[in-house]
Amino acid sequence: MDYEVVIGLEVHTQLRTESKLFSPAPVSYGEEPNHSVHPVCLALPGVLPVLNGQAVELAIRAALATHCEIHPYSVFARKNYFYPDLPKGYQISQYEEPLATGGWIDIELGEGLTKRVRLTRIHMEEDAGKSIHDSEITGGHATHVDLNRAGIPLLEIVSEPDLRSPAEAAAYLRTLRSILRYVDVTDADMEKGHFRCDANISLREPGTSEFGTRTELKNLNSFRFVEEALHAEIDRQGELLDDGVAVQQATMAFDASSQRTRVLRLKEDADDYRYFPDPDLIPLQIDLADIDRVRDELPELPEDRRARFREQYALSDDEAVQLTASRASAEFFEAAVVTQGSAKPIAKWMLRDLAQVLGQLEIGIEDVVLTPDQFAALVGLVEEGRVTPKSARELLPELVERGGDPTALASERGLEAVTDSGVLEGVVDQVIADHPEDVERYRAGEGKVLNFLMGQVMRRTEGKADPGAVRDLLSRRLS
Ligand code: ADP
Ligand code: MG
Repeated sequence: MDYEVVIGLEVHTQLRTESKLFSPAPVSYGEEPNHSVHPVCLALPGVLPVLNGQAVELAIRAALATHCEIHPYSVFARKNYFYPDLPKGYQISQYEEPLATGGWIDIELGEGLTKRVRLTRIHMEEDAGKSIHDSEITGGHATHVDLNRAGIPLLEIVSEPDLRSPAEAAAYLRTLRSILRYVDVTDADMEKGHFRCDANISLREPGTSEFGTRTELKNLNSFRFVEEALHAEIDRQGELLDDGVAVQQATMAFDASSQRTRVLRLKEDADDYRYFPDPDLIPLQIDLADIDRVRDELPELPEDRRARFREQYALSDDEAVQLTASRASAEFFEAAVVTQGSAKPIAKWMLRDLAQVLGQLEIGIEDVVLTPDQFAALVGLVEEGRVTPKSARELLPELVERGGDPTALASERGLEAVTDSGVLEGVVDQVIADHPEDVERYRAGEGKVLNFLMGQVMRRTEGKADPGAVRDLLSRRLS
């Protein structure tokens, strides 16, 4: 049977602070184990947590950027469970009274289609430490604990079960990450575990209003894994339901090599965590004036920028979506347009040729040495016919890595377009004279011979002639 898929996501993203959520230990990455710690992270007796104000500020920013209602009064709670990498025996989180509730984000589903996904809540919590198992590294039997990550500030963003396919889940994650990066709340670097996702999924018969029993796929750390794991779980649940077997609420792991999901543990309930307000921390109270101040300081959000790009620069939906995918890319584009004026060619050159070079070099636009001015100048040279598109493409990788004046570089490389019509006519006539048989065939009606003759002209001008001009000239001379 074809079931309707229901998905809700819980995202944990690391807030971009210098120190931890409740202690002055620095937030580091790649530090030696247990070197970014403080008595609070170690849960030594007698220590007390102190809330990091910067983390609160960033959390407010994220909540505003996702249209949440921010509660001026929220409460930190203890989530109790036993694990060697959790020295306190509980994680400080927010439970009954979270920082923010009830927001939404719009996701783009292609062909101009958007869907609004509701957010249930956003709350702050601390990360746990990390267990390192020898069995996974050396085959030994010891387990080591690294507490560098213990106490790092996280934001948990919970969606309503509004998503209806793995592709929608992936679009949601991309959009959410892009928004959080825009407002500078997180680096959301997935390789470093700064942006992790738990995916809840259930199936139901189309037309039913009740949700089916869900399972939760834990710790998916790439967009591809999220989609693959969801597909695998849809297959597993679908087969159970087809056989008339009930799905059991469970926490699942996804194995990428077999593309299968398996039960880790039957689902614990919230009761198992024995949540209660943390008596070591007073409730968090936020002034409305502070919320207003943070709101005033927010940069333009990607959705607003997308709409503005479509309007102001007459871009297609697709172009606007891609150019605003990151703040760096949107800013590069606008800076280039300011110099060059014509948005459309800049958009095309950015999304096609520049994107290709970035892909080859495996870098992002923020790593490019080429300035928006220089990029605009290059596109300008092509627009004016002073450099052919082919030559511009040739110059681009070097410009991206080293920057420089495209006009100077083109002339240094002898890549200025052959625009002198006398020179071009000379080459065309020479080619015609050298290929009498091909000319005969063309004149006898074999139209495609023109391409061969064009190729000869392009070769003799080393690709520096404008193909359109060559074609015109050749056909004129041959007819
Ligand atoms: P928990 O904290 O135990 O994981 P929550 O109530 O916070 O539970 O819900 C977690 C996520 O599960 C939310 O994103 C929610 O949208 C999603 N969810 C709830 N019920 C279902 C369901 N039947 N099918 C799919 N997702 C669901
Ligand atoms: Mg959960």
